[in-house]
Amino acid sequence: MKIDGRTKPTAVIGWPIEQSLSPVMHNAAYEALGLNWACVPFAVPDDNALDTFLEAARRLGFVGFNVTMPHKQAVLAACDEITLRARLSGAVNTVRCAQGRLAGYNTDVDGVLESLEQDAGFDACGRCVAIIGAGGAAGAALAAFVLARAQGVAVVNRDVTRAQSLIARIQEHARGTELKALALSPEAEQAVRRADLVVNATPLGMSAGDPSPIPAHWIREGHVVMDMVYHRPATALMQDARAAGARAIGGLGMLVAQGARAIDIWMDGDSGQRRAPRDVMRAAAEAALAQMDQEGKR
Ligand code: NAP
Repeated sequence: MKIDGRTKPTAVIGWPIEQSLSPVMHNAAYEALGLNWACVPFAVPDDNALDTFLEAARRLGFVGFNVTMPHKQAVLAACDEITLRARLSGAVNTVRCAQGRLAGYNTDVDGVLESLEQDAGFDACGRCVAIIGAGGAAGAALAAFVLARAQGVAVVNRDVTRAQSLIARIQEHARGTELKALALSPEAEQAVRRADLVVNATPLGMSAGDPSPIPAHWIREGHVVMDMVYHRPATALMQDARAAGARAIGGLGMLVAQGARAIDIWMDGDSGQRRAPRDVMRAAAEAALAQMDQEGKR
């Protein structure tokens, strides 16, 4: 990568940020696209640092930036405009900077659907889905399945009030999609077993030795299972799914798709004429994960 006086900055902000795969994925894509852009990670530990970064993003020629934990909700509130996807998700993970204004997007929404289609040949339209978890990633998944016109979505969370809040935010847009908030309970077991697709949107699986967020016998043959965790090749949930004869995919495809979609937006807005190279970004992310393994960092 060559940096010169005309290089335009992009960024990923979060806390902690050292483990982010965005800089390697994005810089590989910029090089392949011949864009004179560079992606730099910014450690943003608190709201004061976030305000400082946002001021810089407005004034210092940034193309855009990605947002990770814990700032996705705060950035939603700080943007000058937000898309429907971001509003329904309750979070912004991608910002486009132009003329001092910040436009907020949520590319996790498209990332979920793109990965399901590419990695599992799954189209959510008319299908039943169970999402485990009710945080930011679950909010994006819920928005995705509502916009994709799923038949029904059950949000299963140990704290059922958080699942209810996600559903309350999106209910008026649900049209034909039936939405249910459930605690980890026998009713949730039935909803999971009835679903065509089961999505893990909890962090369980990020650390070696983590259990699955649901009992193994809730998974059946014929399920498609997506674990949003991308840190390991096969989580306990993915292993249980494969043992039951289900199709299991991890979260790396979604990570690549959401990052690629951010670059698509920065290049062309919503016109979508040019596409970031997903294959190049995936190879860069896989190489970075392999390097972390070698260094014992995950
Ligand atoms: P979050 O906002 O903190 O939400 C976490 C959710 O998981 C909450 O509903 C929480 O339940 C639940 N949870 C946490 N620990 C649990 C446990 N031990 N047992 C059962 N439930 C538990 O996190 P997030 O931002 O949504 O991220 C969730 C996961 O998705 C992370 O692994 C993240 O890396 C991944 N992710 C992946 C992508 C991708 O591109 N592949 C994108 C975004 C996120 P309570 O409400 O009861 O606390």
